[in-house]
Amino acid sequence: MNSYIQETIQRVSKRNPNEPEFLQAVTEVLGSIAPVIERHRKYQDHAILERITEPERQIIFRIPWVDDQGKVQVNRGFSIQFSSAIGPFKGGLRFHPTVCASILKFLAFEQIFKNSLTTLPMGGGKGGSDFDPKGKSDGEVMRFCQSFMSELYRYVGPNTYVPAGDIGVGKREIGFFFGQYKKLANEFSGVLTGKGLEWGGSLIRPEATGYGCVYFAKEMLSTRDMDFKGMTCLVSGSGNVAQYTVEKLNEFGAKVLTLSDSSGFIYDKEGIDAEKLAWVMEIKNEKRGRISEYLTKYPNAEFHAGKRPWSVPAQCAFPSATQNEIDAEDAKTLLKNGCILVSEGANMPSNLEAIQLFLDAKILFGPSKAANAGGVATSGLEMSQNSMRLSWTAEEVNARLHHIMQMIHSNAYNNSIEYGQKGNYLMGANIAGFVKVADSMIDQGVV
Ligand code: NDP
Repeated sequence: MNSYIQETIQRVSKRNPNEPEFLQAVTEVLGSIAPVIERHRKYQDHAILERITEPERQIIFRIPWVDDQGKVQVNRGFSIQFSSAIGPFKGGLRFHPTVCASILKFLAFEQIFKNSLTTLPMGGGKGGSDFDPKGKSDGEVMRFCQSFMSELYRYVGPNTYVPAGDIGVGKREIGFFFGQYKKLANEFSGVLTGKGLEWGGSLIRPEATGYGCVYFAKEMLSTRDMDFKGMTCLVSGSGNVAQYTVEKLNEFGAKVLTLSDSSGFIYDKEGIDAEKLAWVMEIKNEKRGRISEYLTKYPNAEFHAGKRPWSVPAQCAFPSATQNEIDAEDAKTLLKNGCILVSEGANMPSNLEAIQLFLDAKILFGPSKAANAGGVATSGLEMSQNSMRLSWTAEEVNARLHHIMQMIHSNAYNNSIEYGQKGNYLMGANIAGFVKVADSMIDQGVV
């Protein structure tokens, strides 16, 4: 590995002890951009790697709230504002008991390059809390969100920092955030994305990450003169990203065999068609239940408790749950069973060893920062509509999303060719995302 890159990774490791996910993301990005660092001395001269691996600002705060029993609870809130080189900080808010600085820093770091790839002017950020929404009443979630925003409102704004949803944060939570922000700031502005359609949201934003991930995969397949007709697919997760991945795969003629949540996965060998997907949406979005409940309506399917779906033989895999859900063993199993495509809907779902196995096997591997960029891209389109005080039709937003995913694909693909590793989307996407941000940092001086 290039010595400048190696020294930077060592420095990051030393300065951020106990942050394994952050170090993993830094290693993944820096480990793949050596060709551009070696070709252009300016990045070293301007200390770009030292600066780009240090967040511009990180805020940690207390979130006190009162539960339904009248008991005071305390959670921890975070806002990681990593890079504003090419636009306001932009990235989702995550509510999950595992949330900590390391996870949010990895997500914010990845977000810098993802947002750069979208072609839209957005910087990188991420935030959230270790609050667990599971089993909480609507009233508890509202009080928690209001307390969260009572602190966060100081740091957000349409031209400063524009958060969105992520794991555990959907339309309900964005509504509570928006209401509290509006009350405190006394303004109605595009300060969040993923808003309800009636109050400034964009059509297709809920669908965008899943649809975009499938559009990206379709572009990858077309480089080998293939398409989705009759392809068998594994999808993990059963939340926002997973649901719309299944919807688009069905539309393109693929057969989806699995979905999962943190309790296990379901395997439906007949395929999860539109009617079955509607049941999953009801279980997850309305009843807020478990994926195993799929079997109450479709008893021919199997539920595998405590397992991930990667052992089921299929041609394509769409990890859409969480980070590090595909390890080396899973990757070997997928490859052994004839998997030819992995398109990452979740952020960093494959660990470093798994990625290397996919690259060595030369399958079509769409890294998350390219494959799942459709969500934030459509958030960018929501920001544009808010600024213009206009609403585009679903067809228009979908067409723009599709075009952006095609641009991201060709940008990553062309960079992989230019830097001598045709079809290595990881390297291509990282270089494309990096160059735009790094050059902007050089233009703006040492700030
Ligand atoms: P949701 O909260 O809607 O769904 C998350 C799904 O993943 C649930 O099925 C959940 O199961 C499962 N899950 C979460 N944690 C774990 C875990 N530790 N082990 C197993 N399963 C788990 O989130 P999203 O669909 O929005 O997000 C999914 C992924 O996509 C995340 O990595 C997110 O960062 C990424 N992403 C999301 C975008 C968006 O627009 N929403 C944009 C780009 C990326 P359970 O209910 O049991 O917790």
